[in-house]
Amino acid sequence: MKKIPGPRYNDGKYKKIEYFFKGFRAPFFKLINFNSKYKFQCPICNYQGPFMKKNNRPFAKCPKCGELERTRLASLVLESMYPDQKASETDVLHISPENSLRINFQKNYKSYISADLHRKDVDQQFDIQKIPFLDESFDLVFASHVLEYPEDDRRAIGEIRRVLRKDGIAILPVPLIHKKTKDNQARNPKNRMMHEPGLDFFDRYREFFSSVEIFGPESFDSKFNLHEYETSNLLPVCKV
Ligand SMILES: [Zn+2]
Repeated sequence: MKKIPGPRYNDGKYKKIEYFFKGFRAPFFKLINFNSKYKFQCPICNYQGPFMKKNNRPFAKCPKCGELERTRLASLVLESMYPDQKASETDVLHISPENSLRINFQKNYKSYISADLHRKDVDQQFDIQKIPFLDESFDLVFASHVLEYPEDDRRAIGEIRRVLRKDGIAILPVPLIHKKTKDNQARNPKNRMMHEPGLDFFDRYREFFSSVEIFGPESFDSKFNLHEYETSNLLPVCKV
């Protein structure tokens, strides 16, 4: 695939205008919902107050940074696993990057590479079924809501395992939309998934990693409101 030079993160005058207006969202939202009984705290931007609805999920979104339940959970897990010193010694590969996590990785971690198959606002474009890095290149691979898309998900998991060092960690959450994983012969035209994960999808990680620890909303204080309405917000941490 030809790499097309594109805009970097947060570049361009329209982004600046967008961020300018987004700056008003949290105070305005807080003002009009001042008597709400439901107040929460965002672990990413430290906003405290009522949260916004997202689709059919009440209180899903932080009105200040805009992050949803799963990214807030990931942020708390990363914070607990990577204190400052450890973060400064950690080389990170971030697939399909979330902006708030990217900022944290870039600021606090030893080195950082972002990647995606299609997006242009990343350092590298590649297919995770064929990661263009040598064995044992990273300490942490973070890929959230990615592994449901590659045709050969086990090959992608194997590639992630291959580029990790001996004490490396992969954080690989997927949307848990069924009881049991459904593998499609062709991409589902509605959600574009090749694999529609259930909780048993995490067993595929156990084929490649020595341990898989699962974090969820119960792992942290309820003030962070990490529950996802109708699905489970779970974050598997896979150790080499
Ligand atoms: Zn926030």
